[in-house]
Amino acid sequence: MKLVLATSNKGKVKEIKAMCDSFEVVPYTDLIDEFEIVEDGSSFKENALIKARAVFKALGDDEVVVLADDSGISVDAFGGEPGIYSARYAGVGASDVDNLNKMLNELKSKGLKSSPAHYTACMAIVDKTREFSVHGWMYGDVLDEKRGENGFGYDPIFVPKDYDKTLGELDDKIKKKLSHRAKALKNASSILKTF
Ligand code: IMP
Repeated sequence: MKLVLATSNKGKVKEIKAMCDSFEVVPYTDLIDEFEIVEDGSSFKENALIKARAVFKALGDDEVVVLADDSGISVDAFGGEPGIYSARYAGVGASDVDNLNKMLNELKSKGLKSSPAHYTACMAIVDKTREFSVHGWMYGDVLDEKRGENGFGYDPIFVPKDYDKTLGELDDKIKKKLSHRAKALKNASSILKTF
């Protein structure tokens, strides 16, 4: 079965491909030109469904199944922000590096060395007749300094619960087991098996 991903984010595509070896996984940008999707939902679930529906419609192929992921990080010391705004924390069009630096500055401006935080991933599955959504979470702490180069986004400052290294330092295999996306994808796989 061809599973089309409603994302062109290389970090996400790499992780989802590695976790979904029983499907033919294709980013939608391999099939059609990339287009802007306005993510104006008020939750991870709403935004994941907006992305999946938009890509399904744009593909115009009733045979495909589309999987969309909406994810982000919520920091306790910032009242749960940036949450659904994680990709544009430092402003519209901000890069992962800009967003990470903004978080480091916010922690420093509050005089904090760290704060409890968690990642959330919601995955939406859309085909011709059905829509589903599932979630996964990963808890830990964010630090006021970058450590390591692995992963993407906020990973160099995120230490998962029960670990003493950041996701930037830990092997990708560990993130593959622990991550919010892995947990959401496990739930998504149970649904995809029934297709
Ligand atoms: P989305 O592409 O709209 O779902 O935005 C997700 C944003 O959340 C990304 O740009 C990253 O900044 C952040 N994010 C989500 N998942 C991860 C992860 O596994 N590691 C690091 N950052 C993540």
